[in-house]
Amino acid sequence: MKKLYTAQVPLMIDHLKNILESGGIECVVRNTYLGAAMGEIPPIECWPELWVVEDERYEEAQAVLKGALSPVVGLEKPWKCKSCGEMIEGQFTECWNCGSRQWLGRK
Ligand SMILES: [Zn+2]
Repeated sequence: MKKLYTAQVPLMIDHLKNILESGGIECVVRNTYLGAAMGEIPPIECWPELWVVEDERYEEAQAVLKGALSPVVGLEKPWKCKSCGEMIEGQFTECWNCGSRQWLGRK
């Protein structure tokens, strides 16, 4: 069994678990709400974790996860500034050349 993903938001973990299971990948959630019960462990230790049961499907699960998260991390794709035509790296939310924030409207 391998740990696939950790998120602070339990809903996110549930969401991803549903997606993986609908793709036939068995997974389990650990640590959910444990922190509230224990009280003494640091917050990071309380974050829910998503584990893939079958090791051999780990990479497949990663690919599914990547696809599932793409709307959130879609900023990683390079985008073209509409103001000055500059190509901007996906992690930037505004144009380094002219300061335009047009990535918001580029869909
Ligand atoms: Zn620009």
